[in-house]
Amino acid sequence: VPERYTWNLEDIYASWADFTTAYKRVARSVPTAARFQKRLAESATVLYEALATILGIDQDLARLRSYASQRYDENTRRSRPLERLQAVEQLAVRFGAVTAFLRPEILALGQDRVERFISEEPRLSEYRHLLQDILRWQPHTLSPEEEKIVAQAGQLTDAGDAIYSIFTNAELPYPIVTLSNEETVRLDPAAYTHHRASHRRQDRNRVFEAFWGEHRRFRRTLGGLLYVQVRSNIFQKEVHRFPSCLSAALFPSNIPETVYRRLIDDVHANLSTLHRYLRLRRRFLDLDELRYEDLYAPIVPPTALHFTPEQAMQRTLDALAPLGDDYVEGLRRGYEARWVDWYPSRGKRSGAYSTSVYGVHPYQLLNFNGRYEDLVTLAHESGHSMHAHLADARQPYVTHECSVFVGEVASTLGELLLLQRMLDLHRDLDTRLFLLDQHLDNLRQTLFRQTLFAEFELTIHEMAERGETLTGDNLSQIYLDLLRKYYGHEEGVCRIEDLYGIEWADVPHFYYNFYVFQYATSLVASISLAKAIREEALRDHRNATRRNAYLGMLAAGSSKYPIDLLREAGVDMTTPTPFEAAMEEMNRTMDEIESLLHERGLRAVS
Ligand SMILES: [Zn+2]
Repeated sequence: VPERYTWNLEDIYASWADFTTAYKRVARSVPTAARFQKRLAESATVLYEALATILGIDQDLARLRSYASQRYDENTRRSRPLERLQAVEQLAVRFGAVTAFLRPEILALGQDRVERFISEEPRLSEYRHLLQDILRWQPHTLSPEEEKIVAQAGQLTDAGDAIYSIFTNAELPYPIVTLSNEETVRLDPAAYTHHRASHRRQDRNRVFEAFWGEHRRFRRTLGGLLYVQVRSNIFQKEVHRFPSCLSAALFPSNIPETVYRRLIDDVHANLSTLHRYLRLRRRFLDLDELRYEDLYAPIVPPTALHFTPEQAMQRTLDALAPLGDDYVEGLRRGYEARWVDWYPSRGKRSGAYSTSVYGVHPYQLLNFNGRYEDLVTLAHESGHSMHAHLADARQPYVTHECSVFVGEVASTLGELLLLQRMLDLHRDLDTRLFLLDQHLDNLRQTLFRQTLFAEFELTIHEMAERGETLTGDNLSQIYLDLLRKYYGHEEGVCRIEDLYGIEWADVPHFYYNFYVFQYATSLVASISLAKAIREEALRDHRNATRRNAYLGMLAAGSSKYPIDLLREAGVDMTTPTPFEAAMEEMNRTMDEIESLLHERGLRAVS
């Protein structure tokens, strides 16, 4: 692979020798943080010096970790990067132990003294948000001895997740299925994903029955494991005095419960939009009745569009033009400075991600094959990269990192602007149908499917909080009821067999503690923002209020809480307005598809 298609990790360390020198220096500095223990109350200056020292070491550790893990991702078969990475992780554990005094001592200072210290020592204002955030935990923090016991118990309460992962990855058998062409297939996850999208319905049906039938056989074990996870969340919320598992899970990001509950309410109120999409899908597939196993079948042929890296970069830069010249120029320079590792190679980590090294620059790992979906991935990861680029430039280390909630707004906004650009460029029927269908299915999966997950999670936690037991059977019944409600089973929109209630058993995210709702809320927010920014750019080039507010949110890093950042950028996630805008977008997309279908002479919806 030519050098220009690889990322330049030498910007982090020129060589492994430099890494080792830095590692030794950091290893020597880690124990020195202990000198601040039991001293934070001494004076504002001591508090400042403690924070500056500890965050300085944290920054050094992050840089070491990035280098070792990115070297590892380049080729996971090499052992040296993995050894170095493990050494950094061990150092980080030691650092965690040395600095464990920090939070309890800041809590012991209390609100008034912290405020007084900040007014006495102006350099402390950089740490105001961090200090306030630690103080917020006061009512949920136990004595140091008690916290130690809770932390030790954590090694036991994590069991559900750990065993689920071992069981599903290593021991759950892959069923064998014979397809209609007599081919026999072993349904590992990749084969399942491939064959569930078969254009032959008979095969989709066989694949679903075999795959979910096998999960159903193990429902008691899988249900027991999920119940362990829920029980452990209940343990944590009780010892830390939260009213519910939901409130405990949202507390770290300071996201109001209303945001979570509003998402579910909004989706319930808009199921007719999902049903319209499902009916459209039935027409495309020319079926008398849509079934759950028909949801992955392709409804338009894949596009022949293909991109070189240069074309993909140019397309992305053009698409992001509504974000302004500085933004586009910053990204262009980043591409030129080799932020991106483009091509797959033997041993390279699969998938894609964006990461950033504070004081260096962002990086992207891709496995680029030139397909349209690879272009979408570039736009997504470039959204993350520019978020980090802007926040790192404006924020001190302590507030540079972006939350998931806001981060996925930046990345999906890049995808939405790309889609719009593609639609502006491609006027032919097949390409437009392809693009619009991709968009619709993304909206279905992200807004409706993820919210169904979020509602399932909430329901089972509330049941367990009331003292009800969760089993494979009642989990499947709850999931089935939700599926049928969302997909309109009773109304004849989409038929869902009893067996598919077991789908919860294949979702590892249920072990992530109320995580998935953010995928939906982030996309809801980015749809509103993308629309406002584009319309503003089309109207008047000099007035860029919405764009500037958005860029200001990116540059703010984590100096404020996610909901406040989004509100300042012009989206209030505690109101129904953003979701309504997303539904308008989905309906507009379907309007366009219907008129394209009409052009093509397909029969009208019955
Ligand atoms: Zn992302």
